[in-house]
Amino acid sequence: MAKADPASLLTVDLGAIVANWRDLAARVAPARCAAVVKADGYGLGSVAVARALAKAGCRDFFVARLNEGLAVRDAVPETARVTVLDGLMKGEAALYRRRNLTPSLNDPGQIAEWSAQAKAAGEKLAATLHFDTGMSRLGLTPKEGDALLADRTKLDGIAPAYVMSHLVSSEERDNPINAAQLAAFKKWRAAFPDVAASFANSSGIFLGPEYHFDVARPGCALYGINPTPDRPNPMRGTAKLEARILQVREIDSPQTVGYGAMWKATRPTRVATIACGYADGWLRTFQGKGQAWLDGRSLPFIGRVSMDLITLDVSDVPTATQGRMVELLGPNLPVDDVAASAGTIGYEILTRLGARFARTYIEP
Ligand SMILES: *Cc1c(COP(=O)(O)O)cnc(C)c1O
Repeated sequence: MAKADPASLLTVDLGAIVANWRDLAARVAPARCAAVVKADGYGLGSVAVARALAKAGCRDFFVARLNEGLAVRDAVPETARVTVLDGLMKGEAALYRRRNLTPSLNDPGQIAEWSAQAKAAGEKLAATLHFDTGMSRLGLTPKEGDALLADRTKLDGIAPAYVMSHLVSSEERDNPINAAQLAAFKKWRAAFPDVAASFANSSGIFLGPEYHFDVARPGCALYGINPTPDRPNPMRGTAKLEARILQVREIDSPQTVGYGAMWKATRPTRVATIACGYADGWLRTFQGKGQAWLDGRSLPFIGRVSMDLITLDVSDVPTATQGRMVELLGPNLPVDDVAASAGTIGYEILTRLGARFARTYIEP
């Protein structure tokens, strides 16, 4: 083992992310396909992902936070639009304008702030108008939306780039909330017939063409999470996580393994300790359910997940030796299966991926 070999390695397949984006773009055509790269590109690296997708032709990017927007702005051409979903906070308008970021305007105060900025600058400024159709988190309430339609001078100086809303339960195909939100969104969309309408997230794309409008906003599906949980995953896996075996030992009853003596040997057992723990985002809720993979074999987690280490039962896998890398996420352990074994969703597994991994990007 060379000195520089990392203890843990995250490999991100940008080619697979681009392939997923192209797949989604074909599904929504003639609508455009944006890319949601918030939370550092769902943990995989927003700058690398945005750069690869921009090269592939993507021109619409969405992030949550302003600082995420600043990072993505530098990674993509100036002609690509970068929308910040959080909304325009007081005092931020000049920075948004200077850096060519598109704010999502989520309440009347934000509309007033952006309109004032446009008038002061003497130019039209682009914005996303977010109408809440059921999520009740961000966006104009129906009452605020009606007030805006009744007095459009509030939009003076503003050139809306998108009219958008966000689905509540799109991964549940038969949930009637989907159709109710669609009906509500059509009203706001009709009030701005010349503005691009954006409605569908990843799962929304699979609800059918009437959900596509002009610009789809997939996130999770780009990264390989199944947007159709009741059906086989149409997307490609994009990330592989491997951790090194640091030490191997033999134990027998009545020895226990790890904090709290949560696992007790009942037979002679080979235990491998690997360089990954909850500080790397590998959750404590994997206890008793998680697994690693090596040479075509499953290696069950035993004992507690600790901060830096996880212990595996490698009794049946003699090739599990010190220095080998085991797979924790990848072709043998798809993100949705990994998430299910921790009692969570793929989004949380990816966005919690830690900062200690060496990272390799496979270019498209
Ligand atoms: C996160 C987010 C998306 C992407 O959702 P996925 O389910 O990951 O495809 C789209 N739109 C908005 C407003 C979001 O916050």
